[in-house]
Parts: sequence; structure tokens; C-alpha cells
Amino acid sequence: MLKKVILLFIVGLIIYGCATVPVTGRRQLSLVSNSEILPLSFDQYAQVLKENKISDNKEWTAMVKNAGKRIQVAAERFMRESGVANQLDGYAWDFNLIESETVNAWCMPGGKVAFYTGIMPICKTEEGVAVVMGHEVAHAIANHGRERMSQGLVTNLGLSTVGAAMGSNPTLTQQIFMQSVGVGSQLGMLKFSRTHESEADKIGLIFMAMAGYNPREAPEFWKRMEAKAGGQRPPEFLSTHPSPDTRIQDLNAQMPEALKYYRK
Ligand SMILES: [Zn+2]
Repeated sequence: MLKKVILLFIVGLIIYGCATVPVTGRRQLSLVSNSEILPLSFDQYAQVLKENKISDNKEWTAMVKNAGKRIQVAAERFMRESGVANQLDGYAWDFNLIESETVNAWCMPGGKVAFYTGIMPICKTEEGVAVVMGHEVAHAIANHGRERMSQGLVTNLGLSTVGAAMGSNPTLTQQIFMQSVGVGSQLGMLKFSRTHESEADKIGLIFMAMAGYNPREAPEFWKRMEAKAGGQRPPEFLSTHPSPDTRIQDLNAQMPEALKYYRK
């Protein structure tokens, strides 16, 4: 009897604790709410800005801020038109370029974006920046960080809320958060799964097209990334499935859909 009750409770929690990813409609585990994860995100972002040098390259900075603003507007419009604008409640968008040779970029929950100068020569143009921006913002909009944090809490601390996890083990909770959102921590960084990467590519392609950037630039960017990165495996890019070839094929397959959003 007790076993049955516990099982029912767990099943109920999993059904209750589910959300739907915009665009793809995939159901995902969501035991963490935005109101719980956004304060962690904003704190962490402020910390990153404090500990790193912001680039003084005016041209690159303008590219990141312009592409960021346009992708933000596109994402907001998309969510509005899909009737789920409330999923962006509490967002406080920010786009910064950090001085570092690391080939990386990320968007934390709540729209906190960082690009590293190391990725800029591969982006080359604002359109190239928009490829990466669309992809990273898509990870945030699809709540991949929240989903991974939910999984991380279940795995490491048992079924738990952020509040309870913070109460029992704040350090571990903080580290699970950092791994989950793709920033990295002393524990290293979790790779985004193939599902998450494909989803971010697909959603990102639509966002960049809606923002007025030619989505045909996306496969071109990934070709440059593959050529440039070579043996060096950057944290967010190429470190994960799908392989660049599969990724380019998938992007090309999604191109007709994305081009419907591309108005020029
Ligand atoms: Zn990604």
C-alpha cells in the first residue's frame, strides 16, 4: 500500500512537473520554476561580468548587442504569437562580449547572454553572430537549463525543490545550476544532449530568420566552426553530438521552414 502511494506520488509529481518546449512541442521534466532559477541566473551573470574583462572592441560589441536585440524581439514576438508570452515573465535581457580566447557563447535562463571574443572571428559578420545568438537564446527559451537542473536535482539530491536543495546543500545546488545552464563549474560542464542541440538549432534558425538574418548563414557558420576548431573542442560547440555534418544536413532540411519566416 505504502509503495503504491509513493509510486502514485512520484508519477503525479512527474506529470505535474512537466512543461512543453515551444516550437518542437516536446514534453520536458520541469521541477524548477523560473521564479526559482532566474535569481540564481542573475546572480551568476553579475559574478561572471565582475570576474571577466568586458571587450573594448567597439565593432564586435555592436555586432553582439545588435544581433542580441533583434533576436530578443523575434523571440518575444514568436512567444506572443504562440500564446505563451508569459513564459518570458521575469526575463531581463543582457548581451555582453567578454575578452577571452575561448571559443564560446551562452545564454543563461532569463536572457543573460555572453559571447567570448574567441568566437568572433568564426562568426565574422553580424549574421554569423545571429546564428550563435539564435542557438543560445533557443537553449534558454526551450528551458534546457531548467530541465537539466531538474534532472540534476533528482539525480544528486533525490526528488527535491530548489528551495529544499538550497537548504540542505547550497554549494552542490549552485554547482548543479552552473553545470545545467552551460556556464561550467568546478564539477566541469555537462554537455547539452543531442535532443537539446537539435532543438536549439531548429528554434534558433527560426529566430534568426524572424529577426531578418538570412538563415542560410547557419550551415555556413558551422562549416567555418568545424574548419577553425580542428582539434580544439570548445565547451558548447562541437563537444556534443550531433556531428557537424549531421548538424549541417539537419539545418538544410529545416531551411524551407525557416525561410518562411525570413522576410526581406
Ligand atoms: Zn548548444
